[in-house]
Amino acid sequence: MATPKVALVTGSNKGIGLAVVRSLCKQFTGDVYLASRDVGRGTAAVENLKAEGLKPLFHQLDITDPESVRTARDYFQENYGGLDVLINNAAIAFKMADTTPFGVQAEVTLKTNFFATRNMCNVFLPIIKAGGRVVNVSSGMGAMALSRCSPELQARFRSADITEEELVGLMERFVKEAQEGVHSERGWPSTAYGISKTGLTVLSRIHARRLRQERPQDNVLLNACCPGWVRTDMAGPDAPKSPDEGAVTPVYLALLPPGAEEPHGQFVSEKKVQPW
Ligand code: NDP
Repeated sequence: MATPKVALVTGSNKGIGLAVVRSLCKQFTGDVYLASRDVGRGTAAVENLKAEGLKPLFHQLDITDPESVRTARDYFQENYGGLDVLINNAAIAFKMADTTPFGVQAEVTLKTNFFATRNMCNVFLPIIKAGGRVVNVSSGMGAMALSRCSPELQARFRSADITEEELVGLMERFVKEAQEGVHSERGWPSTAYGISKTGLTVLSRIHARRLRQERPQDNVLLNACCPGWVRTDMAGPDAPKSPDEGAVTPVYLALLPPGAEEPHGQFVSEKKVQPW
Protein backbone atom coordinates (compact mmCIF):
# COMPACT_ATOMS: atom_id res chain seq x y z
CA MET A 1 0.00 0.00 0.00
CA ALA A 2 1.29 3.47 -0.84
CA THR A 3 2.36 5.65 2.10
CA PRO A 4 -0.43 8.11 2.90
CA LYS A 5 0.17 11.84 2.75
CA VAL A 6 0.71 13.47 6.11
CA ALA A 7 0.19 16.87 7.72
CA LEU A 8 1.49 18.22 11.04
CA VAL A 9 0.18 21.24 12.97
CA THR A 10 2.26 22.52 15.89
CA GLY A 11 0.61 23.83 19.06
CA SER A 12 -2.74 22.45 17.98
CA ASN A 13 -4.31 21.30 21.26
CA LYS A 14 -6.39 24.52 21.30
CA GLY A 15 -7.13 27.80 19.55
CA ILE A 16 -6.38 28.32 15.87
CA GLY A 17 -4.14 25.24 15.65
CA LEU A 18 -6.95 22.99 16.83
CA ALA A 19 -9.31 24.57 14.27
CA VAL A 20 -6.69 24.01 11.55
CA VAL A 21 -6.52 20.32 12.47
CA ARG A 22 -10.33 20.12 12.40
CA SER A 23 -10.44 21.70 8.94
CA LEU A 24 -7.59 19.56 7.57
CA CYS A 25 -9.30 16.40 8.87
CA LYS A 26 -12.26 17.33 6.67
CA GLN A 27 -10.30 18.37 3.57
CA PHE A 28 -6.82 16.83 3.47
CA THR A 29 -6.41 13.43 1.86
CA GLY A 30 -4.05 11.80 4.30
CA ASP A 31 -3.14 11.57 7.98
CA VAL A 32 -3.42 14.72 10.08
CA TYR A 33 -1.33 15.05 13.25
CA LEU A 34 -2.42 17.22 16.14
CA ALA A 35 0.72 18.12 18.09
CA SER A 36 0.99 19.41 21.64
CA ARG A 37 3.85 19.91 24.07
CA ASP A 38 1.66 18.34 26.75
CA VAL A 39 0.52 14.76 26.12
CA GLY A 40 -2.55 15.10 28.36
CA ARG A 41 -3.82 18.28 26.68
CA GLY A 42 -3.02 16.86 23.24
CA THR A 43 -4.75 13.52 23.67
CA ALA A 44 -7.79 15.24 25.23
CA ALA A 45 -8.00 17.49 22.13
CA VAL A 46 -7.74 14.43 19.87
CA GLU A 47 -10.58 12.76 21.78
CA ASN A 48 -12.74 15.86 21.40
CA LEU A 49 -12.22 15.88 17.63
CA LYS A 50 -12.96 12.15 17.50
CA ALA A 51 -16.27 12.90 19.24
CA GLU A 52 -16.98 15.19 16.23
CA GLY A 53 -16.44 12.17 13.96
CA LEU A 54 -12.92 13.18 12.85
CA LYS A 55 -9.78 11.06 12.95
CA PRO A 56 -6.71 13.10 13.90
CA LEU A 57 -3.55 11.37 15.11
CA PHE A 58 -1.31 12.65 17.89
CA HIS A 59 2.38 13.38 18.33
CA GLN A 60 4.08 15.09 21.27
CA LEU A 61 6.03 18.18 20.21
CA ASP A 62 7.51 21.00 22.26
CA ILE A 63 9.05 23.31 19.71
CA THR A 64 11.47 24.78 22.30
CA ASP A 65 12.89 21.32 23.06
CA PRO A 66 15.38 20.31 20.32
CA GLU A 67 15.17 16.64 21.35
CA SER A 68 11.37 16.66 21.01
CA VAL A 69 11.68 18.30 17.58
CA ARG A 70 14.24 15.74 16.38
CA THR A 71 12.17 12.83 17.70
CA ALA A 72 9.13 14.08 15.79
CA ARG A 73 11.15 14.61 12.61
CA ASP A 74 12.55 11.07 12.83
CA TYR A 75 9.03 9.69 13.40
CA PHE A 76 7.68 11.29 10.21
CA GLN A 77 10.76 10.34 8.22
CA GLU A 78 10.56 6.69 9.32
CA ASN A 79 6.79 6.25 9.06
CA TYR A 80 5.92 8.41 6.07
CA GLY A 81 9.22 9.07 4.32
CA GLY A 82 8.83 12.78 5.14
CA LEU A 83 6.06 15.33 5.56
CA ASP A 84 3.64 16.81 3.02
CA VAL A 85 2.24 19.70 5.06
CA LEU A 86 3.79 21.54 8.01
CA ILE A 87 1.92 24.31 9.79
CA ASN A 88 4.07 26.15 12.32
CA ASN A 89 1.30 27.52 14.52
CA ALA A 90 2.67 27.26 18.08
CA ALA A 91 3.44 30.61 19.70
CA ILE A 92 3.13 32.58 22.91
CA ALA A 93 2.23 36.15 23.81
CA PHE A 94 2.39 38.06 27.07
CA LYS A 95 -0.87 39.78 27.97
CA MET A 96 -0.93 43.58 27.60
CA ALA A 97 -1.32 44.00 31.35
CA ASP A 98 1.62 41.70 32.19
CA THR A 99 4.21 43.54 34.29
CA THR A 100 7.14 41.22 33.46
CA PRO A 101 10.11 43.47 32.52
CA PHE A 102 10.27 44.14 28.78
CA GLY A 103 13.72 42.58 28.43
CA VAL A 104 12.41 39.31 29.86
CA GLN A 105 9.32 39.44 27.63
CA ALA A 106 11.59 39.96 24.63
CA GLU A 107 13.80 36.98 25.46
CA VAL A 108 10.94 34.61 26.33
CA THR A 109 8.74 35.61 23.37
CA LEU A 110 11.49 35.39 20.77
CA LYS A 111 12.68 32.07 22.20
CA THR A 112 9.41 30.39 21.17
CA ASN A 113 8.03 32.48 18.33
CA PHE A 114 11.25 33.08 16.43
CA PHE A 115 14.14 30.86 17.53
CA ALA A 116 12.14 27.67 18.22
CA THR A 117 10.05 28.09 15.06
CA ARG A 118 13.29 28.63 13.13
CA ASN A 119 14.64 25.38 14.58
CA MET A 120 11.41 23.60 13.55
CA CYS A 121 11.90 24.88 10.01
CA ASN A 122 15.55 23.94 9.80
CA VAL A 123 14.96 20.44 11.18
CA PHE A 124 11.81 19.73 9.13
CA LEU A 125 12.43 21.51 5.82
CA PRO A 126 14.81 18.77 4.59
CA ILE A 127 12.03 16.15 4.98
CA ILE A 128 9.27 18.21 3.33
CA LYS A 129 8.35 16.18 0.26
CA ALA A 130 8.18 17.44 -3.31
CA GLY A 131 4.91 19.34 -3.72
CA GLY A 132 4.85 20.00 0.03
CA ARG A 133 3.36 23.05 1.72
CA VAL A 134 4.78 24.94 4.69
CA VAL A 135 2.75 27.58 6.50
CA ASN A 136 4.23 29.81 9.19
CA VAL A 137 1.46 31.37 11.25
CA SER A 138 2.79 34.88 11.72
CA SER A 139 0.71 37.98 12.44
CA GLY A 140 -0.29 41.37 11.12
CA MET A 141 1.36 42.62 14.31
CA GLY A 142 4.65 41.70 12.65
CA ALA A 143 3.91 44.00 9.72
CA MET A 144 2.85 46.72 12.14
CA ALA A 145 6.05 46.32 14.17
CA LEU A 146 8.05 46.51 10.94
CA SER A 147 6.47 49.86 10.08
CA ARG A 148 7.53 51.16 13.50
CA CYS A 149 11.20 50.12 13.15
CA SER A 150 13.91 52.63 12.17
CA PRO A 151 14.30 53.18 8.40
CA GLU A 152 17.59 51.23 8.53
CA LEU A 153 15.98 48.19 10.16
CA GLN A 154 12.99 48.36 7.83
CA ALA A 155 15.32 48.36 4.83
CA ARG A 156 17.08 45.22 6.07
CA PHE A 157 13.83 43.40 6.93
CA ARG A 158 12.40 44.21 3.50
CA SER A 159 15.56 43.49 1.52
CA ALA A 160 15.73 40.61 -0.93
CA ASP A 161 19.28 39.73 0.10
CA ILE A 162 19.02 39.46 3.90
CA THR A 163 20.47 36.11 5.03
CA GLU A 164 19.26 33.88 7.83
CA GLU A 165 22.47 34.66 9.75
CA GLU A 166 21.87 38.40 9.49
CA LEU A 167 18.23 37.99 10.57
CA VAL A 168 19.24 35.85 13.56
CA GLY A 169 21.80 38.50 14.49
CA LEU A 170 19.14 41.21 14.35
CA MET A 171 16.73 39.18 16.50
CA GLU A 172 19.51 38.57 19.05
CA ARG A 173 20.32 42.27 18.98
CA PHE A 174 16.68 43.15 19.71
CA VAL A 175 16.67 40.89 22.79
CA LYS A 176 19.98 42.27 24.05
CA GLU A 177 18.98 45.90 23.52
CA ALA A 178 15.60 45.27 25.16
CA GLN A 179 17.40 43.81 28.17
CA GLU A 180 19.71 46.84 28.31
CA GLY A 181 16.71 49.16 28.05
CA VAL A 182 18.07 50.83 24.90
CA HIS A 183 15.90 49.18 22.22
CA SER A 184 13.82 52.33 21.53
CA GLU A 185 16.85 54.54 20.88
CA ARG A 186 18.29 51.78 18.68
CA GLY A 187 15.27 51.84 16.39
CA TRP A 188 13.01 49.08 17.75
CA PRO A 189 9.33 49.42 18.73
CA SER A 190 8.32 48.23 22.23
CA THR A 191 6.58 45.06 21.10
CA ALA A 192 8.29 41.75 21.68
CA TYR A 193 5.45 39.77 20.08
CA GLY A 194 5.41 42.10 17.06
CA ILE A 195 9.16 41.81 16.49
CA SER A 196 9.02 38.01 16.93
CA LYS A 197 6.48 37.92 14.09
CA THR A 198 8.44 40.42 11.96
CA GLY A 199 11.30 37.94 12.32
CA LEU A 200 9.13 34.96 11.42
CA THR A 201 7.78 36.64 8.28
CA VAL A 202 11.29 37.62 7.15
CA LEU A 203 12.51 34.09 7.91
CA SER A 204 9.71 32.73 5.71
CA ARG A 205 10.86 34.96 2.83
CA ILE A 206 14.44 33.73 3.28
CA HIS A 207 13.48 30.05 3.46
CA ALA A 208 11.22 30.37 0.43
CA ARG A 209 14.07 31.92 -1.54
CA ARG A 210 16.38 29.10 -0.46
CA LEU A 211 13.88 26.42 -1.46
CA ARG A 212 13.62 27.92 -4.96
CA GLN A 213 17.41 27.99 -5.26
CA GLU A 214 18.19 24.59 -3.77
CA ARG A 215 15.15 22.51 -4.77
CA PRO A 216 13.66 24.23 -7.83
CA GLN A 217 12.10 21.00 -9.16
CA ASP A 218 10.29 20.15 -5.94
CA ASN A 219 7.75 22.96 -6.06
CA VAL A 220 7.45 23.25 -2.28
CA LEU A 221 5.39 26.35 -1.44
CA LEU A 222 6.23 28.13 1.82
CA ASN A 223 4.38 31.19 3.11
CA ALA A 224 3.72 33.21 6.23
CA CYS A 225 0.22 34.31 7.11
CA CYS A 226 -2.00 36.19 9.51
CA PRO A 227 -5.13 34.33 10.64
CA GLY A 228 -6.90 37.59 11.56
CA TRP A 229 -7.99 38.58 15.06
CA VAL A 230 -9.36 35.38 16.55
CA ARG A 231 -11.12 34.51 19.83
CA THR A 232 -8.57 32.30 21.60
CA ASP A 233 -6.79 32.21 24.94
CA MET A 234 -4.10 34.36 23.32
CA ALA A 235 -6.32 37.10 21.91
CA GLY A 236 -9.23 37.00 24.36
CA PRO A 237 -13.03 36.88 23.98
CA ASP A 238 -13.56 40.19 22.16
CA ALA A 239 -11.92 39.22 18.85
CA PRO A 240 -14.34 39.09 15.90
CA LYS A 241 -13.33 35.74 14.37
CA SER A 242 -14.03 32.23 15.64
CA PRO A 243 -11.08 29.80 15.62
CA ASP A 244 -12.64 28.01 12.63
CA GLU A 245 -12.70 31.34 10.74
CA GLY A 246 -9.10 31.97 11.81
CA ALA A 247 -8.10 28.62 10.31
CA VAL A 248 -9.27 29.59 6.80
CA THR A 249 -6.10 31.32 5.53
CA PRO A 250 -3.59 28.84 7.05
CA VAL A 251 -5.58 25.93 5.61
CA TYR A 252 -5.87 27.65 2.22
CA LEU A 253 -2.06 27.90 2.09
CA ALA A 254 -1.64 24.31 3.30
CA LEU A 255 -3.92 23.02 0.54
CA LEU A 256 -2.68 25.07 -2.43
CA PRO A 257 -3.42 22.70 -5.30
CA PRO A 258 -0.79 20.46 -6.91
CA GLY A 259 1.11 22.33 -9.61
CA ALA A 260 0.43 25.77 -8.10
CA GLU A 261 3.51 27.99 -8.27
CA GLU A 262 2.33 30.79 -6.03
CA PRO A 263 1.98 32.28 -3.53
CA HIS A 264 5.49 31.47 -2.33
CA GLY A 265 7.58 33.46 0.14
CA GLN A 266 4.66 35.80 0.77
CA PHE A 267 2.82 37.23 3.73
CA VAL A 268 -0.84 36.29 3.24
CA SER A 269 -3.93 37.56 5.04
CA GLU A 270 -7.57 36.80 4.18
CA LYS A 271 -6.20 34.52 1.42
CA LYS A 272 -4.56 37.55 -0.25
CA VAL A 273 -0.88 38.39 -0.62
CA GLN A 274 -0.06 41.50 1.41
CA PRO A 275 2.65 44.05 0.68
CA TRP A 276 5.71 43.67 2.94
P1 NDP B 1 -3.37 30.02 21.79
O1 NDP B 1 -2.63 30.64 22.92
O2 NDP B 1 -4.82 29.76 21.91
O3 NDP B 1 -2.65 28.65 21.37
C1 NDP B 1 -1.27 28.59 21.23
C2 NDP B 1 -0.86 27.15 21.06
O4 NDP B 1 0.57 27.10 20.95
C3 NDP B 1 -1.24 26.27 22.27
O5 NDP B 1 -1.62 25.01 21.80
C4 NDP B 1 0.07 26.20 23.03
O6 NDP B 1 0.18 25.03 23.82
C5 NDP B 1 1.03 26.13 21.86
N1 NDP B 1 2.42 26.34 22.26
C6 NDP B 1 2.97 27.39 22.90
N2 NDP B 1 4.27 27.17 23.13
C7 NDP B 1 4.55 25.95 22.60
C8 NDP B 1 5.72 25.16 22.51
N3 NDP B 1 6.88 25.55 23.04
N4 NDP B 1 5.67 23.96 21.88
C9 NDP B 1 4.51 23.54 21.35
N5 NDP B 1 3.35 24.23 21.44
C10 NDP B 1 3.39 25.41 22.05
O7 NDP B 1 -3.05 30.97 20.54
P2 NDP B 1 -3.82 31.17 19.14
O8 NDP B 1 -4.53 29.94 18.76
O9 NDP B 1 -4.54 32.46 19.20
O10 NDP B 1 -2.57 31.40 18.18
C11 NDP B 1 -2.15 30.48 17.19
C12 NDP B 1 -1.20 31.19 16.26
O11 NDP B 1 -1.86 32.29 15.62
C13 NDP B 1 0.01 31.80 16.96
O12 NDP B 1 1.13 31.68 16.13
C14 NDP B 1 -0.37 33.26 17.09
O13 NDP B 1 0.75 34.09 17.24
C15 NDP B 1 -1.11 33.48 15.80
N6 NDP B 1 -2.00 34.63 15.77
C16 NDP B 1 -3.11 34.65 16.56
C17 NDP B 1 -3.99 35.73 16.49
C18 NDP B 1 -5.25 35.78 17.29
O14 NDP B 1 -6.00 36.77 17.17
N7 NDP B 1 -5.57 34.77 18.11
C19 NDP B 1 -3.73 36.87 15.59
C20 NDP B 1 -2.53 36.72 14.80
C21 NDP B 1 -1.72 35.64 14.89
P3 NDP B 1 -0.27 24.99 25.39
O15 NDP B 1 -1.73 24.75 25.41
O16 NDP B 1 0.53 23.86 25.90
O17 NDP B 1 0.11 26.32 26.00
